[in-house]
Amino acid sequence: MIIQEFLETNITFLTGVGPKRAELLNKEINVFTYRDLLYYFPYRYIDRTRFYKISELDPDLPYVQIRGIIKGYSTEGVGPGKRLTAEFRDETGTIKLVWFKGSKWITANYQPGLEFIVFGKPGVFNGIVNIIHPEIEPVNQTEGKLNSALQAQYSTTEKLKNQFITSKVIGKLISNLLKQSQTRISETLPLYLTTRYNLMDLHDSLHKVHFPSNSDELEKARYRLKFEELFYIQLNLLRFKTNRTLKSKGFVFSNVGQNFNDFYYKNLPFPLTGAQKRVMKEIRKDLGSGKQMNRLLQGDVGSGKTLVALMCMLIAADNDYQACIMAPTEILATQHYNTISKLLHGMNLNIRLLTGSSKKKSRSSISESLLDKSLHILIGTHALLEDNVQFANLGLVIIDEQHRFGVEHRARLWQKNLHPPHILVMTATPIPRTLAMTLYGDLDVSVIDELPPGRIPVKTMHFNDLERNKVFGFIRQQIAENRQIYFVYPLIKESETMDYKDLEEGWDIISRVFPPPKYCISIVHGKMPPATKEASMKLFKDGHAHILIATTVIEVGVDVPNATVMVIESAEKFGLSQLHQLRGRVGRGASQSYCILMSSDKLSKDASKRIEVMIRTSDGFEIAETDLQLRGPGDIEGTQQSGIPFDLKISNLARDGQIIEYVRHIAEDILANDPVLENDQNQIMRFELRRLFSVRQVWSNIS
Ligand code: ADP
Ligand code: MG
Repeated sequence: MIIQEFLETNITFLTGVGPKRAELLNKEINVFTYRDLLYYFPYRYIDRTRFYKISELDPDLPYVQIRGIIKGYSTEGVGPGKRLTAEFRDETGTIKLVWFKGSKWITANYQPGLEFIVFGKPGVFNGIVNIIHPEIEPVNQTEGKLNSALQAQYSTTEKLKNQFITSKVIGKLISNLLKQSQTRISETLPLYLTTRYNLMDLHDSLHKVHFPSNSDELEKARYRLKFEELFYIQLNLLRFKTNRTLKSKGFVFSNVGQNFNDFYYKNLPFPLTGAQKRVMKEIRKDLGSGKQMNRLLQGDVGSGKTLVALMCMLIAADNDYQACIMAPTEILATQHYNTISKLLHGMNLNIRLLTGSSKKKSRSSISESLLDKSLHILIGTHALLEDNVQFANLGLVIIDEQHRFGVEHRARLWQKNLHPPHILVMTATPIPRTLAMTLYGDLDVSVIDELPPGRIPVKTMHFNDLERNKVFGFIRQQIAENRQIYFVYPLIKESETMDYKDLEEGWDIISRVFPPPKYCISIVHGKMPPATKEASMKLFKDGHAHILIATTVIEVGVDVPNATVMVIESAEKFGLSQLHQLRGRVGRGASQSYCILMSSDKLSKDASKRIEVMIRTSDGFEIAETDLQLRGPGDIEGTQQSGIPFDLKISNLARDGQIIEYVRHIAEDILANDPVLENDQNQIMRFELRRLFSVRQVWSNIS
C-alpha cells in the first residue's frame, strides 16, 4: 500500500518543513506524520470574498479583511509596550496596524505605498481602531488564487506563531502535502458504504475540508469525515461487545437461593421501587444467560443502586461465586462496607473491607479467605486491583461511580479470573445518551429512573456573597431544629499543591459565626491523613458535628440522612454535574432539604446558566445534557480516562449526536451479518480498526 506509506512519512520530509519546524509541530500540535497534518482540521472558515471598508470597522466585528495602502511606519512606546505601528488607509479612512514583535521583518517585507490585503480582528486603543498582528498579503499575490471563498483557519500556539508557523503557513504546508501526493488517497470505508450512504470519498473530502470551493462542498466533506471518525469508534466498541458474547462463556447464575431469599424476605428494610425491580430483572436475565454480563447501571444520586448491587452479590453467593465491589474513595468504600454489613445482619456471609490503609495482617487474612473461598463479598478501593489480591472464584464485579475508573480498570478486574466475571458498572452521573454510547458503547445499559417514595424534592436557592448573613441566619434556625449542614468549597488546583485558601478562610468565618462550644464544626479534605479524615467524617455522621466543612471529597456517595442543608461556596466554579452530585448529598431523610448556591454577584453567562438550571430542575439527565452542551465532552469528568480517543479530530459529541446514533446502527447491522468482519468487502474495516485502535487491542483480548 504505497499511499499508506506516504501518509506515514515523517513530517520532516515535507517541503517547507525542516528538522526545526518538525520538532515544533511534534511538540506543539502533535503532528508527526503526513497523515497527522492532513487530519489537522481547520477549526473554522472565513469568507475571504468579503472586503470591509475601513469606515465600517468597529471592535465588535470578528475577523475582517480590508484592502488598502500602508502609509508609513512608526515606533511607539517603550519597554515591553514598545511596538511598531503602521498607518493603513483605504478611500474611507485610516486604521492602525500594530506589531509587538518581528518589526524588522515587517518593515522589510511590506513596503509603504503598495497595496495590501490585511486580515485580522479589529480592536480599539485610545479611540483609534487597530488590528494587532494582522496577516498581510500583497494584492497581486492573492489575485487569481482566491478561487475558494472559504479560507480555513487552523489553531496555532504561541510558540508556533513565534516561529512564524501561522494558520496561513499551516494551510500552505497542507497544500504542499496534497501536491506532493501523486496517487489518490485510498479509501478507508468500503465502497458499498460510501455508495449507500452517499458519502464523498476520502481523497476528495481531505482536499475539500482544507480548501473548500463553497459551503455545500465543505459540508459534504466534513460530514464524510465525521461519519468515518464516529463510525470506527462505534464499530470498535460494538466489535468488543460481539466478540465477548461470541467467545467468552459467562458463569451461569441459575439459582436464586437462600442468601437472596433470606435477605429479601427477612432483612430488606423497605419494598423495592418499581425501577429497582425492573433493573433486577434485567440483570438476572444477564446472569442466567450463559453470557458474560457487561452492564452499566445508571441511576441518579439516592436512587438506591447500592441495594441492587447487594442483591446481585447475593445471587453470586447463592451460586457459590465470590463478588466484589470497588468504590473510588476510601470514605465511600467504608460506607458501603458499613451499609452492607448492616443490611446483611444475621446472615451467614463473610464480608471484608480492603483499602489502601488496610493493615498487613488483615490483608493477609483477606488473601487467605479469598483463596479458601470462605470470603463471599469483598468491598474496597483501587486496592482490589493489586496483583496480590487473588480470588478463588470471582463471579461478579461491581464498580461504583464508574466515571472515576477507566476501561483499563475494568480489564484488570477481568484478568483476575480465567473466565471474565460478570461486570456491573454503576454511575450516579447521568450521561447523555450519545455520550454514553461512546463512553460505554460496549456495555448494555439499565436505568433506575425513579427515586424511593417519600423523598421531598430539595429546594435550591441562589445567594450572592453580600447576602451571607441571611444564609447564616437560616442555618442557625436549621441547627436549632437539630439538622446538620454541609459547606463545600471548590479546590482551585487539583494537583499536589492544592490550594486550600478558600477552605481555610471559610473555616475562619464559619467558626466565628458558629462558635464552640455551642456549635461543633468538623472539616474534611483530600490532604488529610485517612485516619483524621475518617474521624472527622464520623463526628458528622454520628450527629455530633453540626457543620461539615469540606472540599469535594464528599461529592461521591456520602450518606447522612439528617443533613438537610448543602451550602456550595463559589458555586460558579463548579461544573453542573458536580453541583448535581453535591446536591444529592441532602434530601436523603424525611425532612425538607435545601441546596444553597453561593456565588459572587458577577457571573459569566455560562455560570448563570448553570445556576439557573440547578434551580429549575433536579432531573439528572436534563442537567447532564445541559452540561454537555455548555462544556463539550472533553471536559466532562472521566472522559479522559475512558479509553476512547477523545482527541476527536472533527466530530463533537455534544453536537453530532444524530450522526452517532446513525453510524451506530450501521455498525450494528454490519456486525450482525459479519460478526468478525471476515467478508472480503469488510477487510478494509479490519485494516482501519487495527490501525486506529491497535493500542487498545491489548485489553480487548483479555475477554
Ligand atoms: P445511590 O447509591 O443510588 O445514590 P443509595 O443506594 O445510597 O443510592 O440509596 C440512597 C438511600 O435510599 C439509602 O439511604 C437507601 O437505604 C435508600 N433506599 C434505597 N432503596 C430504597 C427503597 N426501595 N425504598 C426506600 N428507601 C430506599
Ligand atoms: Mg451510591
